[in-house]
Amino acid sequence: LSHRSKEDDVDVLAGDVGRGEVGCSDAERRSEQRWPLRPRPFPDELLSSWLIRLAAAHGLKLHTFCSLAWPGKQIWNRDIDKSADSAFLADLAIRSGRTQAEVRATCLGAYEGVTFESGAANGKMRWVLPVGVYSRTRRLFGVQYCARCLAEDAEPHFRRAWRLAFVTECVRHRVPLKDRCPACGAPVVFHRGDMGHKGKRVADPMSSCHACGFDLRRGPSGQLSRTEPDPLLQLVSALEQGLLDRWTLVPGHGPVPTHLYLTGLRQIMCLAAGKRFGARMRAAAAERYGVPDWDRTGDSHQAEFEYLCREDRRRVLRLCAYLLSDWPTGFVEICTELKLWACDALGNLSPAPYWYWSVVHDHLERSFYSPTVEEIAWCIAKNDEVFGGLYFPPHKRIRFIPIWNAAGISVGPHRDALRRRAERASIIKSG
Ligand SMILES: [Zn+2]
Ligand SMILES: [Zn+2]
Repeated sequence: LSHRSKEDDVDVLAGDVGRGEVGCSDAERRSEQRWPLRPRPFPDELLSSWLIRLAAAHGLKLHTFCSLAWPGKQIWNRDIDKSADSAFLADLAIRSGRTQAEVRATCLGAYEGVTFESGAANGKMRWVLPVGVYSRTRRLFGVQYCARCLAEDAEPHFRRAWRLAFVTECVRHRVPLKDRCPACGAPVVFHRGDMGHKGKRVADPMSSCHACGFDLRRGPSGQLSRTEPDPLLQLVSALEQGLLDRWTLVPGHGPVPTHLYLTGLRQIMCLAAGKRFGARMRAAAAERYGVPDWDRTGDSHQAEFEYLCREDRRRVLRLCAYLLSDWPTGFVEICTELKLWACDALGNLSPAPYWYWSVVHDHLERSFYSPTVEEIAWCIAKNDEVFGGLYFPPHKRIRFIPIWNAAGISVGPHRDALRRRAERASIIKSG
């Protein structure tokens, strides 16, 4: 019991005092089920990180601890931070003496309604980095960390926000997050730290690389970014604040729910990383904002943001950060230059968040009635007749308005386009 901290002692002594909402027998049962040592989760600590510290507090290896607590339950051959079910979390709340809300706040599922509207599709959770579960290990680099944060922790632990694809920087230390061991290049799989080490407890410390034992705290912590405002850092900071507030501010528009802000951001990302406009859009933005132009690196074939490598995520996000820094001016000017109109700007976005849709609609809408060649021919033939006083009843007039427009009678800005079209179809003579 040497790992017992003062805080744990207080917890043990506190028992069920103050839990008036549960019945007496319930309270007794709960108190019997409680673990003797119950370190509470640190602010924004990830579920798996907390479980490891709970095991370590009892001097047990992680898997021993979990199979004693939940015999037969498969925990570590999946992404438990993403997939923990409510029965498991309810049980964990009882055993750890924490509230359901506190326990749920350690899970990625608690981002539902904050970063995405609802539900995980095909096991994918929007904005959450995939870890690529393979048996009990991980193949993808879905756990990020800040070496400086880990080094400053009294007990190194992993943050929930580090699993989010748009959290690419540590706002506190102004450094990029890392996603692998700097010594051997392995993904961070901190729950495997005690495997193959007889007698080694898991969190000893949690910051050691499971593959080579290198202490991640000792790695290069990254170049401190410039002290002048950095749009990428500002965007990550705004989004992290948006996670807490559930609202994010759109310049020139006002605050919008964070998940709607992210939906629009994602659409801009799709354009910037997409095949059709991506390269030209990045080149135009590079020129406008003076950021280095870039091409997508070889290992990021999949278009979805969560599957891009860390460097590509940072590049896409940096570009979006610049576009959002003078929203909507830069975005509208670049799209207009590339002839990227509403149809492409909205893509499959349905429904589009209003803050994004309104900009696209007001500035990039180029749809107009496109008459057939026959309609144009008919209109031109009827032109004189119409102006000669031929009477159309109102309901018919409405029907004919686009055709009149097609004839160039009152088409306004589209007159030239229609004229060229008619010329190509040899309906009217050019000149
Ligand atoms: Zn940090
Ligand atoms: Zn390593």
